[in-house]
Amino acid sequence: MPAPSQDASEPEYGLTAVAPIRFKVACPECRAGFELPGDAFLLAIGASRRTTTYSFSCPRCDASIRKPAGRRIVELLTQGGVRTLRLHTADGPGGQG
Ligand SMILES: [Zn+2]
Repeated sequence: MPAPSQDASEPEYGLTAVAPIRFKVACPECRAGFELPGDAFLLAIGASRRTTTYSFSCPRCDASIRKPAGRRIVELLTQGGVRTLRLHTADGPGGQG
């Protein structure tokens, strides 16, 4: 499969986009598709890929949806200003960050 491996979309200007970023998601419960602002998501980064998930509430059926977040999704969400929760605690010296 020919896939574009050239991904040169890295910003080089040291600035952050402030436009409201929306993510297109689908609810597995009611099958509705909708767009939510980054504000509506919570990204939970665990110690492994299996425990790294993102969650949101369906505005239609009010279900709490949690899905596994791959590396690319994590990148997209963090770049979109989504709240990030780190599940694993690093036991280093003086680690309040
Ligand atoms: Zn739903």
